[in-house]
Amino acid sequence: MVNGFEWIRGGAPADLLYPRGRGLAPRVENFMPSHRYSEFIERKGYQVICCEDCRYWHVHPMPTEKKLEDYYQKYYSQLGDNRTMTDKQHDPDGFYRLQYEDRLRLAEALIPKDLTKRVLDIGAGYGDFLRFMREKGWQTQGIEPSLQALSLMADQRKLNVQQGHVDAISRKNFAPASLITLNNVLEHVAHPQQILTTIRRESLLLPDGVLLIIVPNDFNPLQDILRRSAHKDFPDQHYYWVGPPTHLNYWSIPTLKDFVRRCGFQPVHCTADFPMEIFALMGENYLLDPQKGRPAHLKRVQFEKNLHRAGLDSFKDKLFASFADLGIGRDTLLYCVEGRKP
Ligand SMILES: [Zn+2]
Repeated sequence: MVNGFEWIRGGAPADLLYPRGRGLAPRVENFMPSHRYSEFIERKGYQVICCEDCRYWHVHPMPTEKKLEDYYQKYYSQLGDNRTMTDKQHDPDGFYRLQYEDRLRLAEALIPKDLTKRVLDIGAGYGDFLRFMREKGWQTQGIEPSLQALSLMADQRKLNVQQGHVDAISRKNFAPASLITLNNVLEHVAHPQQILTTIRRESLLLPDGVLLIIVPNDFNPLQDILRRSAHKDFPDQHYYWVGPPTHLNYWSIPTLKDFVRRCGFQPVHCTADFPMEIFALMGENYLLDPQKGRPAHLKRVQFEKNLHRAGLDSFKDKLFASFADLGIGRDTLLYCVEGRKP
């Protein structure tokens, strides 16, 4: 049951799916190298397995570092037309600012007031989050592997962003931070546990500092409902979120919590962003008709903006944490502290 994906094998009653207060003690485990599995999905020549050793779905065997590097070089060079990139840089809908405000508000509620306000963004992308944090009076540090992303970051030096692979983090190049963020990073890397164990080994987090992990919430209940209803007659859409090699690892909310515990962290707050699949279930099926994606996104932005305009940020925090409690929300946002040192 701790795996959290039994429900997708069919049958577990809803109230048993996300047991509270279960899971392993916060100590670092050795991840088994054997990657035993009985279920898998084949996509684009890759095999994505439901790994019984790692206890989340991942590509197996993992592509070599060289293959991934080549892939990402090409991937980033195609980003010129990518809507997310332009949006993140210019934020025409004010969407990213709203998200960053939410993240900061929750982080500040968890981080002791007397800790130095210093953030380390691992996988800083275009620097948009660090730019926001700097405006808010935080010292910023970051690391980003993509030269293309860095070439668009005019203020790279001011934001203190280094070029390097996301696991090249150490006390030598970064001061310990009160907030470390991994925003859409862990799903892309071949050995996600290494990043978390490096943060611990190098003591990159100040005592009582917070690690915020954001990853897509996959194999989630709404995706399963889509599979059993609106997508029933579209078998190629049954696991539409499985997209190797862009995504190598897939966590639901319970399996992500389990994973961080096994890496020596303790989840202290879990929330999610808007459960976009609801649009598809309401007939605005942006998965079958991508034209519907942008209007759905704008409705969700409007909804969130209205909550903010009404002065209901704390209501919003509770609502979105309740989504996470139910295992839903398109991305998981998991705030963690370090567990006991082994
Ligand atoms: Zn595995």
